[in-house]
Amino acid sequence: MVVTSTKDIEWAARILRRGGLIAFPTETVYGLGAHALLPEAVRAIFKAKGRPSDNPLIVHIGRREDVSRIARDVPESALRLMNAFWPGPLSIVLPRRWDVPDVVTGGRDTVAIRMPDHPVALRLLQVADVPVAAPSANRSGAPSPTTSQAVLEDLGDRIDGVLEGGVPRVGLESTVVDCTGIQPVVLRHGGIPLEELRLVEPDIRVATTAELGAGRSPGARHVHYRPRARVWIVTPGDAAQGGMPPGSAWIGQSEPADRGYGLTPWAKIEVVPDVETYARRIFAFFRECDREGIAHIHCENVQPGGLGEALMDRLRRAAGDDSIPGYTGP
Ligand code: AMP
Ligand code: MG
Repeated sequence: MVVTSTKDIEWAARILRRGGLIAFPTETVYGLGAHALLPEAVRAIFKAKGRPSDNPLIVHIGRREDVSRIARDVPESALRLMNAFWPGPLSIVLPRRWDVPDVVTGGRDTVAIRMPDHPVALRLLQVADVPVAAPSANRSGAPSPTTSQAVLEDLGDRIDGVLEGGVPRVGLESTVVDCTGIQPVVLRHGGIPLEELRLVEPDIRVATTAELGAGRSPGARHVHYRPRARVWIVTPGDAAQGGMPPGSAWIGQSEPADRGYGLTPWAKIEVVPDVETYARRIFAFFRECDREGIAHIHCENVQPGGLGEALMDRLRRAAGDDSIPGYTGP
């Protein structure tokens, strides 16, 4: 059931308090929420999504002061980041309180917390007045949902309801920053770019590939964001390649170059004006391509800076390990 009115938010908040599953809009993507302090409710999220149980969830709160309901300690760096970016697309990893269930944190001693910047999400969280664990509201591995329709496609028969909230402003997941050590560490690129974080925390650093491989950011290990179509990352101005399968799709900031052989009747072309629009569109574009039976999606790469890192991270993972950035196969 898709619901929209203020009265529906109150209904959804009651369902959450009782241990049900409610999908709701945020400024990043649609989330699938459950009462974070009820282990059974949180387990239902993993079941509905088919999510690997070692992949911890981000806990969402509706008020700044709710941090102390789940975190044992809030270091200065975390306070500065919250002041600067909350509500917003930034998740902060903090030492957890003992009453946060293991199922939320994957058994870790830490918990990721975020206050989303979306009126429907904030109202839901405030009315429910409980911390809400929420990953993206898609089947595990699939592109994140940026419409209520995408949520219904993936999870319609497995959840209690979806709150309607339009198309998210950012379209990519939150940036995850670990504030449990001496120096804040970016575990996942996302809606708040590194340059902006640096203005507030000049000594922030990005986790190394080795650290991520060792499980510091559990989600980095799993298949993610993949449409059914094969995703290829291509470089702007790539020379004519030829041999492109007919019916491929293209998304990027430029038009696809003429492939030289006139063999590529592109089935779908979307030229986006900037990286922000690219980010906002990418997951919906993947889903549209799947609906239209497109087998190959060509995504033009983008420069670092702004949302560039976050977008390239999602594209690389959608493409899988066997895709070489810059290679224009198949
Ligand atoms: P998702 O809900 O799919 O956006 O994924 C949330 C991601 O946040 C996880 O996949 C982890 O990479 C990260 N995360 C959540 N909790 C923690 C934690 N306690 N420590 C480190 N990373 C975390
Ligand atoms: Mg996800």
